[in-house]
Amino acid sequence: MRAAIGVDLGGTKTAVGLVTEGGVVLARASAPTPASNGPGAVLDTVVSLARAVIGGAEVDTIVSGCGVGAAGVIDSELGVVTSATDSLPGWAGTRVRDVLAAELELPVAVVNDVHAHALGEALHGAGAGSGTVLMIAAGTGVGGALVVDGRVHAGRRGVSGHFGHVSSIEADGRPCTCGGAGHLEAVASGPAMCAVYRERSGDPTVTDGREVVRRAEAGDPHGQASVALAGRALGRTIGGLVNALDPDVVIVGGGLAAAGELWWAALRDGVDSERMALLADTPIVGAALGADAAIVGAAALVIQAGGEGLA
Ligand SMILES: [Zn+2]
Repeated sequence: MRAAIGVDLGGTKTAVGLVTEGGVVLARASAPTPASNGPGAVLDTVVSLARAVIGGAEVDTIVSGCGVGAAGVIDSELGVVTSATDSLPGWAGTRVRDVLAAELELPVAVVNDVHAHALGEALHGAGAGSGTVLMIAAGTGVGGALVVDGRVHAGRRGVSGHFGHVSSIEADGRPCTCGGAGHLEAVASGPAMCAVYRERSGDPTVTDGREVVRRAEAGDPHGQASVALAGRALGRTIGGLVNALDPDVVIVGGGLAAAGELWWAALRDGVDSERMALLADTPIVGAALGADAAIVGAAALVIQAGGEGLA
């Protein structure tokens, strides 16, 4: 059987899986990402997890390569991290592809972790069978990817999919994590939803989005307003993107997608308030693969390539 290694390399956790051509995860291993020990330790962890997964595979399994979805902006041509967030100190400039290819003696491909997540959902999750898939995830931040015919549109600099950094009326000029202001992420991310709640309620102790959702469900009007604002803002942006891109399906994932019916109802209202009548039936669906999505998408990178053109 042919399979590939998929790696989901985040700032706090590294997860590795052995994935079939059909997107089935045969085996998994994970460990905390040793981010504070530097890029060498981070890649050592990937290598040991990958070896553990390969070592446990059936003897007739042919491992065709290793795909990596890594935090940060990635130059996929070179397999190098272009820029990184504070969660992985010193990560920028890391030659992820070359180091892993030498250690594992396998072809390696590297993309951004959000792009890997979207590719997994598009190929083997909620977007399976669709040609053009728009994936949007809202959690700590807001981002996603456009996947066309099984390929992520990465953009000239690999930055495509930063849907959290488009103008949003609901954000009302609030400062954004990117240094700008009035962006969607400044109202629709989990931390932003908490900030809105703290302002409205005057209660400075709430720092967890799940607590805002719990209070909303218990009838707290400030909680309900904060959750609805976050959902509606995201929905309006999705509606605008549907008009601009006309995807076959929109997949909504991330931690906030588990926020319940109040958030989803506001999101659907937001979508419907923006999208053109011609696009009223574009499906807006929840993600299907859960935590496996990035592993499955990363593995699909090398399965698709068949090892050609990879290091
Ligand atoms: Zn921004």
